Amino acid sequence: MSTRCILVSLIGAPNVGKSTLLNRLVGAKVSIVTPKVQTTRSRVVGIALRNTTQIIFFDTPGIFRPKKRMQRAMVEAAWASASQSDKIVLVIDSQKGLSEETYEVIKKLKKLKLPSIVILNKIDLIHPTESLALISSLNEEQLFTDIFIVSALTGEGVDKFLNKLEADGLLGPWLYPEDQVSDVPVAMFASEVTREKLFMQLHNELPYSSTIATEEWINQKDGSVRIEQTIYVERQSQKLIVVGKKGQRIKLIGKAARHELERILDRRVHLFLRVKVREDWSENPEHFNRMGLDFNV
Ligand code: GDP
Ligand code: MG
Repeated sequence: MSTRCILVSLIGAPNVGKSTLLNRLVGAKVSIVTPKVQTTRSRVVGIALRNTTQIIFFDTPGIFRPKKRMQRAMVEAAWASASQSDKIVLVIDSQKGLSEETYEVIKKLKKLKLPSIVILNKIDLIHPTESLALISSLNEEQLFTDIFIVSALTGEGVDKFLNKLEADGLLGPWLYPEDQVSDVPVAMFASEVTREKLFMQLHNELPYSSTIATEEWINQKDGSVRIEQTIYVERQSQKLIVVGKKGQRIKLIGKAARHELERILDRRVHLFLRVKVREDWSENPEHFNRMGLDFNV
């Protein structure tokens, strides 16, 4: 049997639906999806198997204008992963259309000279004539080999896109075992699940500077797993927000995270959360390293 492989980077502004699309493509939840922006920090890899072709996806932090050191590191990580792939897929929110930011990304893609595909996502939210206008503007750029209109939410158009990637796969051995959907270490994945629930609970009070560490993972004899996590925040005031009145909020976060982990891991989960204040972690190189980001960019 002749196997094929292809490395694909999903790139685009925050909130265009990259994580939703990745989850749809891979058919399992590997990257966190929230209505908030900038929730994906380090890259996550998802793997789809299409007949004999293994398609390996990188979900990158959104390409946006960096201000702080942390943001610069995220953007740098995004471009680094993009330039290592066989194909770059620029995802656009078709309801938002082509922003100035999108044109900046297109400019950078032209410089990289990598085969690029564009996906007009959230097609369920617009009228077909609007998509035609977008397609013609994108064609004018003479950059993209293909344009796909999809809805990551409903799955519309996703199959055609996968067919194209399958057809473009390069002959060679698979890079991952057949049954693997993601190489995210399971502990890091568990942190992501809790982070998603934290974001969901906090709405606008969300401290972007928070992070979650899975500090203990014990597989128990009865088949359940005991997971201990610490939510790190930068200030005492943020800790109070996360914990909530009489600990109500942290309880809700823990409950939601536990349910999701049980669903994914298919076993009982005992989840223990605590909140700690750690000042200035966003200026701490060690922390960047642990998230797979480069401190010195
Ligand atoms: P990312 O920041 O690019 O990774 O975006 P996410 O995948 O986290 O999605 C951002 C928001 O857009 C979430 O609320 C998603 O449910 C929503 N979304 C993503 N794809 C679609 C789509 O095709 N249609 C609609 N209506 N919403 C979508
Ligand atoms: Mg994302």
